[in-house]
Amino acid sequence: MTQTAAQRFLQDAAVKSADLVHREIIRRGMDSYDAAHLKGRARIKDWEAAREKCQEIKRDAINHLDRFLLQFEEKVVARGGHVYWAANAEEACAYVKNLAIRLGVRTVVKSKSMVTEEIHLSPALEREGIKVWETDLGEFIVQLRNEAPYHIVTPAMHLNRGQIATLFREKLDPGISSDDPADLMAVARRKLREAFFTAEMGISGANFLVADAGVVAISTNEGNGRLCTSIPPIHVVVTGIEKVIPRLEDLAVLWPVLATSGTGQGITTYSTMIAGPRQSGEVDGAGEFHVVLVDNGRSQLLADAEQREVLHCIRCGACLNICPVFRHVGGHTYGTTYPGPIGSVLTPHLNGIGEFKHLSYASSLCGACSSVCPVKIDLHHHLLQNRRNATESRVTKSSERVIFRMWRAVMSSPSMYALGGWTMRKALRTLYALGLAGTILDPMRVWNRYRAPVPLPSESFRARWRKDRAAS
Ligand code: SF4
Repeated sequence: MTQTAAQRFLQDAAVKSADLVHREIIRRGMDSYDAAHLKGRARIKDWEAAREKCQEIKRDAINHLDRFLLQFEEKVVARGGHVYWAANAEEACAYVKNLAIRLGVRTVVKSKSMVTEEIHLSPALEREGIKVWETDLGEFIVQLRNEAPYHIVTPAMHLNRGQIATLFREKLDPGISSDDPADLMAVARRKLREAFFTAEMGISGANFLVADAGVVAISTNEGNGRLCTSIPPIHVVVTGIEKVIPRLEDLAVLWPVLATSGTGQGITTYSTMIAGPRQSGEVDGAGEFHVVLVDNGRSQLLADAEQREVLHCIRCGACLNICPVFRHVGGHTYGTTYPGPIGSVLTPHLNGIGEFKHLSYASSLCGACSSVCPVKIDLHHHLLQNRRNATESRVTKSSERVIFRMWRAVMSSPSMYALGGWTMRKALRTLYALGLAGTILDPMRVWNRYRAPVPLPSESFRARWRKDRAAS
């Protein structure tokens, strides 16, 4: 029987939560992120004011998305570039694939881009016999393992150096004896260097599309982005339509805030702006320059006034890093391109609420994600809205709807509430006294399977309250 996405999630979550090696790797990664993030925030004079400014810029951009995208397109086309509007993943992949075939491309080098993961661009090209090299080190590692990125900023954070050394020995060079990161990096660099100089096409994403300048802004730490976009004769930018921002000067706050939230850096090592194909007199850059603007469900989200702000996301990964659920179950468990809180909010919009409604429940609703988001997206309330939308659109099970109707009836009647509390207290006390906590008979078994049951009081809070008031 085929498993549903929700069943896979629960199964993988149980496996990952019990995998102590995995949890230790993630804990270490997150500890060093937390320290760097705190230090980075302290570097900015007024972090809250910076967040508010970023929110304002993105709100302006998303509220006037059509105008800014057209302005961006006009500038790119005026410099000899091409802009293609892709309504969905199929159209975006078909455009890049046909372009590659028409121009005789055999090898592609790619820098990190979550949109290309979302639309499954690499498999689409590889089905045509085109070799695709991921050139971000983390992406290169997960490509060798034939798996999806684990995290939107650090794709291979779930692996330690020993696991990477073993992988490189198996896939690249059986003679590798060291697991020193510098040595492993050198192996990857040698391999990728060949690819950079043989590829006919470079594919990148975009962190921002600047409307008034017609510029694609890319932040990287490894320099691979610059090599992908300047050495091959063709450069294709594949990006979501929500990446547009109004003005060049907006980068002055967005770039440092993105770097601080993403990795704790003041600014990423390479902050690149590309304004179209190579112009006469310029020494580098691609002669052919294409931008694929991917919609793939974003316009529908734009039409949703309540959740439109989800399009403000600058993919910094901060909400993943702080999320207690992500820290336990890890990125792959979500089974989506975008994991963590932002993925749980966004995926039902991109891939359907019917299949991905369970992600709205993969949250403690602690609100940590909203408090850390640099563009102030109210993530945990959007999770609640997704739960409500799932219920209203009747994609939930009828048994679940019946249970919640009963729950509502009990919660809105004081006498039924008191009776329900009394019955549950009696039943659970008896079960626990018989040592049956966590068994199939225990309605609290999901909780009690892993914990000692909380001792239940003999009387309700309301009864104690009444007694205390009478005594005082
Ligand atoms: S929702 Fe906010 S915190 Fe999460 S990735 Fe997007 S910008 Fe970063």
